[in-house]
Order: sequence, then C-alpha cells, then structure tokens
Amino acid sequence: MNRRQREQLEALFKSLPKSEQDRLFREGAAMRADDQKKRKGERKRYEDLDAPRSGASKRKSEPVREYALKLFAREQASAGRSDAGPDRDAPHATETGFAVFVGKRRCLVRPDGAPGDGSGDTECRLPADMAGRQQAELCVGDRVSFVRGGDERREADELVQVLPRKTVLTRRDPRTGEARAIVANVDAVVIVVSVVSPPLHPRLIDRYLIAIEDSWVESPGSHADDPDPAQAIVAVNKTDLLETLTPDERMKETGKLDPYRAIGLSIVECAAETGRGIDELRSLLSGRVVAFVGHSGVGKSSITNALDERLGLRTAEVGTAANRGRHTTTSSQLYEITPESGDPFWVIDTPGIRFFGLEELTPAQLRDSMPELRRLRRGCKFSDCTHTHEPGCAVLEAVRTGEMHGARYETYTRLLEEIEQTRPPDDRIRPLGDDAGL
Ligand code: GDP
Ligand code: ZN
Repeated sequence: MNRRQREQLEALFKSLPKSEQDRLFREGAAMRADDQKKRKGERKRYEDLDAPRSGASKRKSEPVREYALKLFAREQASAGRSDAGPDRDAPHATETGFAVFVGKRRCLVRPDGAPGDGSGDTECRLPADMAGRQQAELCVGDRVSFVRGGDERREADELVQVLPRKTVLTRRDPRTGEARAIVANVDAVVIVVSVVSPPLHPRLIDRYLIAIEDSWVESPGSHADDPDPAQAIVAVNKTDLLETLTPDERMKETGKLDPYRAIGLSIVECAAETGRGIDELRSLLSGRVVAFVGHSGVGKSSITNALDERLGLRTAEVGTAANRGRHTTTSSQLYEITPESGDPFWVIDTPGIRFFGLEELTPAQLRDSMPELRRLRRGCKFSDCTHTHEPGCAVLEAVRTGEMHGARYETYTRLLEEIEQTRPPDDRIRPLGDDAGL
C-alpha cells in the first residue's frame, strides 16, 4: 500500500459511523491478541502495513488501530470498492486531494491525480462547523477528503475532513502570540539568500532555521526529542556577482556560510541568471512539496522560473501563472513543476509565507525551537536555565564535549543576544517586515 492509498484508507475509515469504527477496533483487538499468542516469544513489532512515510518506523504506531485498518482494507477489497464504505447509498465516494486555496466558506481542492495546471481543481464548501474556525483548522497544502456534489443529496462539492498533517509552517499572531498555520505538509523549505546584492545575512538564515525546526507535528508515538520537521535547504543565489569582488571580500562573503556547512545543512550555490546550481536544486526537490522563503530581491522568482523549463508553455495555458512569485500575488498557489527529466515537484506560494520566520520570538520560544536544547535541558540544574552561564548546565557541558555542535550553540547565543537587545518594553523583539534590513 503506498502513502496515498494509506491516506485514502484512513480518511474513509474516519468517515465511518462510530459504531462501525468501534466494531473494527474490537475485531482488530481480538485479531491482535490472537496474533500475539501465535508469535509468543517473538519480539518483532507488527509491521504488515506499509509505513505511511519514511522514518515512521522509528515511531511507535498504534497497534490496535493498525489491525482495525487492516481489517477494514480487507473488507473493502472483498466487498469491492464501489459498494463498500460509509457512502454505500451515496452516488459519490469520498475522494482525497490537496487544499490549494482556502477562503472563508470554501476552499479549492486539487484532487489526487488531477493535472498540475489546476484545470481539475474543484471548489468545496466547508462544513458549517469548520467555517467558523477555518483559519485554525485548514490551510494551503492540507490533505483533505471531500465528496462531489451536483445531485439531489448535495448541491455543491463539500469538504469532509482535514487529514493528519506531516508538517506545518506557522506564524505567531503578533498580538496573541498564538501560532497560525500558513502551509501544511511541505517536505522542504528553500531559504533563498543572495550574495553581494543584497549581501548575505546569516542572522536571517538562523531565524528561518529556527522557524523551520518548529514545523514538525506531534502525532501519536512521536516525541519532542525526536521531531521530524521539514528539511531546510539554503539556496545561495547571485553567485555570479562574487566575481565583482576582490579575493578578500569574496572570502569574507562566502565564509559566512561556514557555520552552516559545519552543521550539515544542504547548501546549493546557484545563479538563476547563469543557470548555475539549478539542476542540483531540482534534484533535491524532486518528488517533494516545497516552499520558498527569503527577502524580496534575492531571486526567489528567478529561481523558480529557472527550475521550470516548461514555464513558458504553461504560462500560456493558465492565466494565474503570470502572477507567480510576484509580490502583488494575493492568492495562494500550488504549482507543479515538471522538469524534462526527473520527478515533478510542487511549489506552494502563499501570501503568509512572506512573513514566515520573521516574527517576534521570546527567549523561551527560541529555546523550545532548537531540538538539541529541548533534549539537553532536562539535565540542567535549574529548570529556567538560559544555558549561558549557569552552573550545572547540561547544554554548556554538551558543547564542551562536542555532543552539541559549537556552530549550533553560537546560533543560539547570537539569536538570544539579538532578542535581548531589543526586548523591552514587552519582552519581545519587534517583528521584522519583509524588507527589514538586517
Ligand atoms: P524575488 O523578489 O526574491 O522574487 O527576486 P527576483 O527573482 O524578482 O529577483 C530580483 C532581482 O535580482 C532581479 O532584478 C533579477 O534579475 C536579479 N537576479 C535574480 N537572480 C540573479 C542572479 O543569479 N544573478 C544576478 N546577478 N542577478 C539576479
Ligand atoms: Zn542549561
């Protein structure tokens, strides 16, 4: 079973009446007990169903649920897809897809398998109970299940539910401090920075990295010590301009990247202008859902255009494509990039992404956002340890022994300093706008 099938199965399972789910759980539990008896003495975990995503083997699944799902899959298969499931009498079965745009009472869904140019997108009404809370519950990139309308039962296509997220990029509300979802399910975030014009700003990279590290979603079996966030990729653009610098200046500019190389970050040196690094970037993004972040003027649009060899072709087909990447874009887009060789990938561009990573941050939020600190702090003598000068600090000790990378610790102190310098009057730093000169 592949991931998509697995998600479809889960969606269908969840839309079953409660009594039916209970029955499957009961039978699943009995089946599991049976199995355990049979495997007495054998320690192997039940892993019959394909893992829903790579890396999931680290996570403990819910065994009874797995059995219930497996039973359900069997029943579905034996009954034949068309007349099984919750909508036995309904003319349309539940389908799944991606939310491409989210409005107040409706959203635009790209059904699985629909063309990348958006021609198969369908507008879905949000269920009444969700419409009120929509901003918290649904965002671009969410995987959803929906049912088609257009008959006497249902006038319009309707969203059924939002499927569990893999990752979510959030933005904290400057007033309430509450996190709001901007984009769900991105596998990678490309942080675009430029050299020379504008020059490289390491602090900006730090901020983005912190925000990306926060993107993992707690799911059953996952743990704060073992988060699975989106991958950060740094695209260093305009490297053609390095030639305009003296050797010393060039060393200084490129040397700013050394700490990031040291922590093993994926760094792609590129130039949209000359095509340098574009193939490398394309192969890193292959098969994934990605978002591009970075200050305006660094070359995000130039890079995305360079990545898509067939852009010219599709621009003619889709009106909205003309708006790609422009700062005047007000709606969200998910566009598929289909290179001549290699797998396609999907870029999500949404207005909120422009402010992603540039929000206010408190020292506590900073500490929560670094996995090493989350893991190590339990060993600190003081529960409110700032990991800067305290005796018995497990973080300082880990830096001494090399267990925590020095460059990562420097990132922490650098950001902490920045926060504390600008903290008064309300314990927070001022939000940085898209064009804030760092
Ligand atoms: P965005 O605001 O991040 O989307 O940036 P744009 O893609 O609009 O690019 C901003 C400016 O930088 C434009 O004038 C581009 O022509 C220029 N630019 C983009 N990539 C490169 C590059 O690789 N080298 C040079 N020299 N200029 C570039
Ligand atoms: Zn400490």
